[in-house]
Amino acid sequence: MKAEILTVGTEILLGDIVNTNSQYLACELANLGIDVYYQGTVGDNEDRLFDCLKESLDRSDIVITTGGLGPTKDDLTKETAAKFFNQELVLHEPSWNKIEKYFNKLCKTPSENNKKQAYFPKEAIILENNNGTAPGAILKKDNKTIIVLPGPPKEMKPMFDESVKPYLKDLTDEVLVSKTLRFYGIGESLLEHEIMDIIKAQSNPTVAPYAKETEATLRITAKAKNEDEAISLMNPVINKIYDRVGKYIYAQGEVTLEDTVAKLLVDKNLTISVAESCTGGMVSSNLINYPGISSVFMEGCVTYSNEAKIMSLGVNKETLDKFGAVSYETAREMAIGVAKRHNTNIGISTTGIAGPQGGSEEKPVGLVYFGIYINGKTIVKRYLFNGNREQVRLRATKTILNDLRLEIINL
Ligand code: ATP
Repeated sequence: MKAEILTVGTEILLGDIVNTNSQYLACELANLGIDVYYQGTVGDNEDRLFDCLKESLDRSDIVITTGGLGPTKDDLTKETAAKFFNQELVLHEPSWNKIEKYFNKLCKTPSENNKKQAYFPKEAIILENNNGTAPGAILKKDNKTIIVLPGPPKEMKPMFDESVKPYLKDLTDEVLVSKTLRFYGIGESLLEHEIMDIIKAQSNPTVAPYAKETEATLRITAKAKNEDEAISLMNPVINKIYDRVGKYIYAQGEVTLEDTVAKLLVDKNLTISVAESCTGGMVSSNLINYPGISSVFMEGCVTYSNEAKIMSLGVNKETLDKFGAVSYETAREMAIGVAKRHNTNIGISTTGIAGPQGGSEEKPVGLVYFGIYINGKTIVKRYLFNGNREQVRLRATKTILNDLRLEIINL
């Protein structure tokens, strides 16, 4: 079964609002195993909306629209859909009663305009709106369906979940199940190269690489009669991917790198303190995003100046004079110093040159040292990151978290 998403509203075309409805519906339809080959956006214009409906229904079975169900004259999605199917709009009394009640509850009286929202083709299935005034509707003719939903996401999403999803589920006998593998330390192109034969050999499940700012992901998607069958189609392929590039996988599913590391710390009851220079608190902030981290997180300090490194962490002045703040030796003393100060299992440190100024031939912009003190052992790493100041700091933050993760799982 093929469906299309058509979002209606001039404000979307002008870029005044972000089209989150399309994204939501696309994910939901994919999870239902319904193919979506096209999405569109059209302004509040009857002729163009009519043309879009025609074009979409010439190639697909279902069009889902959002927006244009309001009480004003330029809200004309339902009217145009009815016109398209040549169906007459009549007052739907239960909807009108509900709209009146909705207004009464707010101590208001609905205007005559609001009545427009209760007019539907008598053949339509009406979708109740429990979060606003405009009901949605399912209009059908000759195996073609138009589902009209309100524009505000807080109305559209519950209506889709409560009424449209069960309706669509009954129409399809397949499910689409996806799993996401999350990678750190390998770029999207190298990852794709490493598993190209696996990607090419698959049609069900499909294997699709995606890149985010600092990490790569693989989405494995299978279509089957039910979830169990889909999972058994996916598992052998996932195992093959683990065999090939498993060392870069930090998690499966909707989870972040920082939460993965924070959870490891909490689960293993490893206390931690953090001393940051170039990352300026980002490492601490990333860890603190995780609820429950308070049981292991002692302190995060931003020791930016040399004085702070000496006074707060006990870094030797001679070390700073001889090797500089951005050095193997300083990163090492920072990590040990912060762990000692709080008597934690782990102390981690960052010191680097985020740019744009401050680089030299010997110590270029993007150079970052990490110190990881962990149960008496100290590791120092040197990296050279690309990008502007913000990117260097972000990449440094994620990389030290990943390095820490690897140290913890190898304990
Ligand atoms: P209303 O009954 O509130 O007039 P409506 O069904 O007529 O709703 P629109 O008037 O088209 O919907 O849009 C109302 C609001 O809903 C917009 O101002 C915007 O905030 C939000 N909205 C509309 N379409 C989208 C979309 N595609 N993605 C995200 N938000 C949207």
